[in-house]
Amino acid sequence: MKRKSRFGINNLPRGTQVEKSTEMKENVEDGRASIYQSVISNTSKEMTCFSDFPMPEDFPNFLHNSKLLEYFRIFAKKFDLLKYIQFQTTVLSVKKRPDFSSSGQWEVVTESNGKEQRAVFDAVMVCSGHHILPHIPLESFPGIERFKGQYFHSRQYKHPEGFEGKHILVIGIGNSASDIAVELSKKAAQVFISTRHGSWVMSRISEDGYPWDMIFHTRFSSMLRNVLPRTILKQMMDQQMNQWFNHKNYGLEPQNKYLMKEPVLNDDLPSRILYGAIKVKSRVKELTETSAIFEDGTVEENIDIIVFATGYTFSFPFLEESLVKVEDNMVSLYRYIFPPHLAKSTLACIGLIQPLGSIFPTVELQARWVTRVFKGLCTLPSERTMMADIIKRNEKRIDLFGKSQSQTLQTNYIDYLDELASEIGAKPDFLSFLLKDPKLAVKLYFGPCNSYQYRLVGPGRWEGARHAIFTQKQRILKPLKTRALRESSNFSLSFLLKILGLLAVVVAFFFQLQWF
Ligand code: NAP
Repeated sequence: MKRKSRFGINNLPRGTQVEKSTEMKENVEDGRASIYQSVISNTSKEMTCFSDFPMPEDFPNFLHNSKLLEYFRIFAKKFDLLKYIQFQTTVLSVKKRPDFSSSGQWEVVTESNGKEQRAVFDAVMVCSGHHILPHIPLESFPGIERFKGQYFHSRQYKHPEGFEGKHILVIGIGNSASDIAVELSKKAAQVFISTRHGSWVMSRISEDGYPWDMIFHTRFSSMLRNVLPRTILKQMMDQQMNQWFNHKNYGLEPQNKYLMKEPVLNDDLPSRILYGAIKVKSRVKELTETSAIFEDGTVEENIDIIVFATGYTFSFPFLEESLVKVEDNMVSLYRYIFPPHLAKSTLACIGLIQPLGSIFPTVELQARWVTRVFKGLCTLPSERTMMADIIKRNEKRIDLFGKSQSQTLQTNYIDYLDELASEIGAKPDFLSFLLKDPKLAVKLYFGPCNSYQYRLVGPGRWEGARHAIFTQKQRILKPLKTRALRESSNFSLSFLLKILGLLAVVVAFFFQLQWF
């Protein structure tokens, strides 16, 4: 049956040019990740940068994708990395050499400009990501074959041009669904967002206007999340998440409120719902030629377009299946990195993970550990121990984040970073810092757990780490200081009241003395 789909069709803007500085591809390429033009990071610059290279002071706190690319370019230049990168090269296969059990070596076949090449490598890191293959569960949408409108996966979406006046149904409530629904709702006649389980929606802006992750990811709050009884934690989370707006009133409340599922970070979604530009709907039960029937029996007519923002799946077509087997969007890797059954630990997957915090400090620590394993400076436990760890970790993951396909790679943030750092001796010891540098110890425990913390001790220690920790507030505020303000006097009203109060006490005391 021929389906009317927008797969493979690009919704290019008519007559608009891609900004040169972004260098973002307008066309969607098979086998490569694809983003929409407006994507802005949902982790802040101070929590996203690599551990020995803070982002430039004047960079905004949440980065447009072009700015993030600029950071990578500056980073690569600073550390002279480009000479090691072979661009425009496809890896066709990675296979064990016949003498693998003694050498641990791999034969890698690549293709570049139509030419195949073979080379032998002592070790391989697979860093191909998990946001390339679209997960589009058409089987869960009875009637899709009858639907006369267009439908496509969120990875096909680039910008809102061409969607003017349409009735659009967005499926899912991850960050892609929310970003796309918000953007389209400014052009479309009506946007509906259909969610089966709901989600917590958070603002990027937290206490005192600081980025959310600087407040959320502290060792202190992580410790509380680990030690407090579940019932108390559940109540705290419910209260915290509903501080901005009541999720129940907006139809967004998660079905299982107590899972630590990745939240949506979107400052505009609640207001677009409040304006009626986006309407939240339940799971789609069935589609007809022109309408969507929802689980609660409601029907929305005249749907023109369906966007499946239903996430991703992943595979490793260049690896033999036995090396890294993907089953139900899950892999069995020790600490999300090492296949446990290899005679030599010379293969590692980097970034096959979805941490609750920023991915960059996470993959950096993964790479720091992996390179030491490759060099023989760190050893892995037995296959049996690794398998037991994988099983236990998976059970814990389901308990914390649930069984949903979007959560198969979900991990805690600080706990995982500390675990990796412990492997290489880079985890800062709070107690020893409390004795020798108490000011820093307080920052380490109560301040944001940024990547610099993992450069204070151990291999790869960076002299600038302490300074970077103490100057991060400066880098956060710098891009906001775009309007010169007169230095306001520190003499605040509350200060004035305190002085007056003190004066009153002194005067009363004086009169009392006179009385006697
Ligand atoms: P995602 O987080 O995996 O979300 C997929 C959504 O589709 C979930 O709401 C899921 O619902 C729903 N879904 C899946 N199968 C479904 C089905 N059969 N029927 C109905 N709903 C279904 O995917 P994503 O939003 O594309 O995000 C991928 C990653 O990129 C995430 O880590 C995200 O944070 C990141 N991202 C970041 C930004 C940013 O930084 N601004 C923007 C976009 C994406 P359930 O949860 O109920 O399964």
